[in-house]
Amino acid sequence: MTDYADTDRSEALRAHAGAQRPRRWRRTPALRDLVRETTLAPDDFVHPLFVVPGVGVRAPIVSMPGVEQLSVDQLAGEAGELAALGIRAVLLFGIPESKDAHGTESHAEDGVVQQAARALKDASPELVVTTDVCLCEYTDHGHCGLLAEDGYVLNDETLEMLGRIAVSHAEAGADVVAPSGMIDGMVGAIRAALDGEGHLDTAILSYAVKYASAFYGPFREAAEGAPAFGDRRSHQMDPANAREALREAALDVEQGADGLMVKPALGYLDVVRGLSERFPELPLAAYNVSGEYAMVKAAAGNGWLDERAAVLEILTGIRRSGADLVVTYHAKDAARWLQERA
Ligand SMILES: [Zn+2]
Repeated sequence: MTDYADTDRSEALRAHAGAQRPRRWRRTPALRDLVRETTLAPDDFVHPLFVVPGVGVRAPIVSMPGVEQLSVDQLAGEAGELAALGIRAVLLFGIPESKDAHGTESHAEDGVVQQAARALKDASPELVVTTDVCLCEYTDHGHCGLLAEDGYVLNDETLEMLGRIAVSHAEAGADVVAPSGMIDGMVGAIRAALDGEGHLDTAILSYAVKYASAFYGPFREAAEGAPAFGDRRSHQMDPANAREALREAALDVEQGADGLMVKPALGYLDVVRGLSERFPELPLAAYNVSGEYAMVKAAAGNGWLDERAAVLEILTGIRRSGADLVVTYHAKDAARWLQERA
């Protein structure tokens, strides 16, 4: 090894670096592990599942390599796989047998999500079953609520439907319901409906801050829920707004939200940070959405990114910004990599 210290020149250089040398903590893997500020573990992840009617279905989603739509009979096996990986929570989306203007199947007792929640709870009672509560997957027009004649998503008329959906999910065994429609008053309406039916312990994780984002594209293939016309800008938030996010979150907290979510994650880490500082008493989730997943998979598939390193860096970044939980399609891969690293 060259003795860099033994020169006159090094004297002068040492004066520049001074006594403060942050690199001292970076010298070895053990030193780096010792001072790491943000941890990542499989039980920080929520694994989304797309459930479809039928038997024996595992249908790959082209724009989300590695993600499949599953029929209810596949879920027991899936629950076992998640448990082995240390993943303890799922978020259910349902693709119904049939759609109509009112999204009737959304709150059917034998609807696809209701069946899925029961199957998962039978197979794995300790698994945290979270369900997405919205109408867009169930309506033939693909919008998140009942529509006025001019196509505007009706607010207060939709609230009653959201309450019915949440109650049907709770009755099927959901631990947590996650309203995602950005309908004003949704948390309060769902809390009242749940309490009215005796589901006092069912938690509400509100998609309090959901932006009208271009990064939901692949999800719409997965959930078959693209709007038939128009877009969702009359209820989802404008990507340019951050102060409004604090207002949305405050309203949901007032209405009884048990946890808050920001969606998408990567373009909105400042919003995640803002909510974590303003509402430190509530669990905070961030949704690492389908488009964010697809970008990584596409680049990795072309050999342009090291997928493992990129995914762990992204998930760490989301946690570092203040999220307690990360909803992510990378959950299983990341859990596997973390197990290998341990
Ligand atoms: Zn929706």
